Amino acid sequence: MQETNLITDIRSTVIQNRCISRDVSIITLHCPEIAINAKPGNFVNVKINSSTQPLLRRPFSIHHVEGPNIDIMVKSVGCGTALFCNAPEGSSVMVLGPLGNCFNLEKNRFDTAVLVSGGIGTAPMRFLETTLAKYGKKVVNLIGGRSAEDLLTGNLSNCRVSTDDGSEGFRGTVVELLGNTLPDFEKDSSIKVFACGPTPMLKALARFCRERNLACELSLESVMGCGIGICYGCSVEINGPDGGKRTILLCREGPVIDAELLVE
Ligand SMILES: Cc1cc2nc3c(=O)[nH]c(=O)nc-3n(C[C@H](O)[C@H](O)[C@H](O)COP(=O)(O)OP(=O)(O)OC[C@H]3O[C@@H](n4cnc5c(N)ncnc54)[C@H](O)[C@@H]3O)c2cc1C
Repeated sequence: MQETNLITDIRSTVIQNRCISRDVSIITLHCPEIAINAKPGNFVNVKINSSTQPLLRRPFSIHHVEGPNIDIMVKSVGCGTALFCNAPEGSSVMVLGPLGNCFNLEKNRFDTAVLVSGGIGTAPMRFLETTLAKYGKKVVNLIGGRSAEDLLTGNLSNCRVSTDDGSEGFRGTVVELLGNTLPDFEKDSSIKVFACGPTPMLKALARFCRERNLACELSLESVMGCGIGICYGCSVEINGPDGGKRTILLCREGPVIDAELLVE
């Protein structure tokens, strides 16, 4: 579903920057114009400094909204994210948003939302969970990581975790964890799955949901430049009508797609 957002590009102050694990920080930005229009699944495109290194903005999901502020959960993986994770409180960045479409919360279609995330894919889940709670939905979080130190469960409720190495929770993938726990949720409610994480996880999850006829939406990632459909840097192939394929710009028709559309 494509959404029309009221997009603004604003100079925003870093209100707080908290390191929550060895390589992940939560950064609070003062952006009233974005906070008021944001929906779960939306993202922002951030120019981290005024230099040409890095030249392009970097996209981040909106992790949480509180009054005039938004939180961004950032994993340091390269030059832009390392700079952002070290942004001093009181410094400023340019923030363009809210961008992209949002999760479809079609209020009457399900009772229980199962939020499945892997690694930094947990970033959009807090905003999604608080919005679902306002709609009176039951929320379960299934969170996967390579090992215990990669699990990002903070501020999420009703969490069950999996690790590849068995250092915490279920040993295996988060999709296998879903397979194990699904009968508990399915007993007395209708379910919708919402997910974000690495592409192999999303492919396995899409297959799992397709085989069981479970409603599922995925938030995808791609390399991205402008965030507003000009540079064509984020084109992604999805399943089209009649068994064909079609290409979308993830910044405009994504990042959220129905799991049925994910190419295997
Ligand atoms: C819609 C969207 C939402 C995102 N939300 C978040 C979020 O909430 N938190 C978060 O930490 N990250 C998020 N990302 C990923 C984040 O944008 C990238 O990690 C970041 O752009 C990397 O910048 P860098 O300069 O640190 O890395 P670079 O130095 O440019 O690259 C370092 C490594 O990261 C990889 N990389 C670069 N861009 C991306 C990308 N867009 N996605 C995945 N890998 C990438 C490169 O291939 C390379 O291996 C999101 C991406 C998209 C498209």
